[in-house]
Amino acid sequence: MARGYFNVPVAVNEPVKGYAPGSPEREELLATYKKMFNGNVDVPMHINGKEVRTGNTKNITPPHDHQHVVGQYHIADQSHVDDAISTALAARKSWSSVSWTERASIFLKAAELLAGPYRAKMNAATMIAQSKNVHQAEIDAACEMIDFFRFNVQYMIDIFKDQPQSAPGIWNRVEYRPLEGFVYAISPFNFTSIAANLPAAAALMGNVVVWKPSDHQVYSAQVIVDLFKEAGLPDGVINVVYGDPVMISDACLSSPDFSGLHFTGSTTVFKNLWKQIGNNIHTYKTYPRIVGETGGKDFIWAHNSANPLQVATAITRGSFEYQGQKCSAASRAYIPASIWNDVLKHLKKQTSELKMGSPENPDNFVNAVIHQGSFDKIAKYIDAAKENENAEIIIGGGHDKSKGYFIEPTVILAKNATYETMTTELFGPVMTVYVYEDNEWEASLKLVDNSTEYALTGAIFSTDRYIVEQASKALEDAAGNFYINDKPTGAVVGQQPFGGARASGTNDKAGSAQNLLRWTSVRLIKETFVTPQDYKYPFLG
Ligand code: NAD
Repeated sequence: MARGYFNVPVAVNEPVKGYAPGSPEREELLATYKKMFNGNVDVPMHINGKEVRTGNTKNITPPHDHQHVVGQYHIADQSHVDDAISTALAARKSWSSVSWTERASIFLKAAELLAGPYRAKMNAATMIAQSKNVHQAEIDAACEMIDFFRFNVQYMIDIFKDQPQSAPGIWNRVEYRPLEGFVYAISPFNFTSIAANLPAAAALMGNVVVWKPSDHQVYSAQVIVDLFKEAGLPDGVINVVYGDPVMISDACLSSPDFSGLHFTGSTTVFKNLWKQIGNNIHTYKTYPRIVGETGGKDFIWAHNSANPLQVATAITRGSFEYQGQKCSAASRAYIPASIWNDVLKHLKKQTSELKMGSPENPDNFVNAVIHQGSFDKIAKYIDAAKENENAEIIIGGGHDKSKGYFIEPTVILAKNATYETMTTELFGPVMTVYVYEDNEWEASLKLVDNSTEYALTGAIFSTDRYIVEQASKALEDAAGNFYINDKPTGAVVGQQPFGGARASGTNDKAGSAQNLLRWTSVRLIKETFVTPQDYKYPFLG
């Protein structure tokens, strides 16, 4: 029971470590990577705080060395999912009523543990499981996750402070209750921080959770579980199950106590889950909250007043960092003819310097894409572009899956603005460029706005403020995160709350109070101090 209006520590972004050659953090991370890469981890599920091993296992293999097994994980049958749900509901009695200060302390402690003793392990697991280089692992698995925990605590008390007015003689107050039931969190492979935040945001607000991580992020999911446990998260609050996503989702979404979905992943999967929830609506005790951040086809648009080197740099970083496997990664660009040759010159130079290989070698800017399915899909589109008269591969185009799932950073020049790689999410290191005539710049903005179903991130480049204003207006619905003279990636918690609209998600902005509000159900309490005893109003005479 809190006795006082407590301030929480002011949230600050975790500084990104540099990992320069010879630095202690680099030595520690690479040594941890080596040890974990050569070890054999056995990853259980976690139900009611207990490790559950079913003996039904799948191997964990790094995308950059797919024949090398670093361990295995245990997968669920329906009885495990049912256990996870009933355990969560049992834990709800205590967790939903414990003081918010206890919940805040757990996640603030998790942030500090991750900033210190867990940092190398979380980053190394992310490098192995998801093939992120040192820098990409640091900004995701360490810094962004720490930021989520710190800022969400601050947002929680900001929400609590939002209270109604009270007229004389009465006292109005609102209570931010957790949802009645359990939250089902489904996370994607590509961000360790998102995987942690999906269950943690709901749990911070007093909810209990069944969390299904991606099969391609299991190693780092296990480190998150260890972190939560050491931070003091009570048993049963977040229960982790692995395995068949359809079976697990069927079990969770058919429970009368299902009260919310916190999803990040692809658009089709989310739309189907939404449909399933709709079909089950008569089953539930409460209308479930549905929060989903989904796919994208993120753009860079340049005006002829833009600086060609800045545009090229935005493409190189925005499209090829983490192999284009950021939901925010730029994958289509619209460049005016008059600056295209300069942009291309810089782009060729920059991409020729990018090294590709295992994340164990920090010189490698580009590592492997996540799995064979992803590799095959991206390679198919690249090979199709080699054959198609409407497309030309102008940079890269190579791919090789003999050891790891490696795809060269690739730039396709499309002769048609709606060529398939201009409109389809490939989720790989492939940028498609459409060159427009300078005087058709207004029409090109319509193409940006209309050619895809998505609206996640986008960037415009111009040094002309009239053009900046006009393009910002023309594209107001085309991106939930909109960048002016900067690449469309790299959102920082507390600075650029993240999310998109249209087919890119419900835009509840991960890392913001808006997201946390979705995990609460407000109870208004009105108390009257001198209670009326006469039913007659004055107008009755
Ligand atoms: P995915 O949709 O394949 O998988 C996401 C999660 O859904 C995984 O846990 C997976 O096991 C589960 N899943 C898969 N099929 C399912 C089914 N039929 N029923 C229930 N669950 C199912 O996505 P991914 O490959 O892990 O991640 C890449 C996608 O995520 C891209 O589309 C990317 O744009 C998107 N993404 C979006 C954001 C954002 O903030 N908008 C952030 C990260 C990733």
